[in-house]
Amino acid sequence: MEIDTALEHAELVLLRVDRYLRRQHIELAVSDTLIDGYRNDIGNLVQELLRGSGRMSKAQFRRDMKGVIKDYAREGFRTAWEEDGGDVSEAEASDTELIGEWQTEQQGYVDSFADWLKDKTSDLDFVDSRIELWATSFQNFVEHVKLRAEGDPVLKLDGDDGRESCDECQEYKGQSHRLSWWEKRGLTKRNGNENYGCGRWEPCQHHFYNLKGDVVIA
Ligand SMILES: [Zn+2]
Repeated sequence: MEIDTALEHAELVLLRVDRYLRRQHIELAVSDTLIDGYRNDIGNLVQELLRGSGRMSKAQFRRDMKGVIKDYAREGFRTAWEEDGGDVSEAEASDTELIGEWQTEQQGYVDSFADWLKDKTSDLDFVDSRIELWATSFQNFVEHVKLRAEGDPVLKLDGDDGRESCDECQEYKGQSHRLSWWEKRGLTKRNGNENYGCGRWEPCQHHFYNLKGDVVIA
């Protein structure tokens, strides 16, 4: 009898876990696929530039990569908006201008990225982590758009201090404000955010949480 009860209990737990995972999966699926696609497309371009015996020029690489950024900016906005909001045609200009903002910012890093890739003194062991930074920035953009689609939700900065924590993280940690409050102060971006001593680079383990306690901006 006891074993039966334990098994029943275990089954119930598994069912709950399964439901939870399915729900997560559904919530994340489309934009996650897009982030993977972005990472792959950039990775393929990089490989073409590095591998091809001069088949792809640096100029061509720059053009292609800027094109990839442009395509994903639009598609990322549409996908994220629909995932969390609904109709893209109802997005305000102040929301859609995020597309151009992110696109211009990211395209601005392409030339120096191409230079770094073709510089013989560069340590190409870091190629994957450099590509990951591009992907992380796209993820940050997608997360941002999703929150805009929800309106102006309250977000809390929280998380472990980790190996590295700066004055700003210490100051803002535990604070809850609307998205617009964080945006106005330029605090939501990752990797190279000048408004944090730590730059919100990878070692920073502080994230933005919604009221349910989910990470909404990593
Ligand atoms: Zn910090």
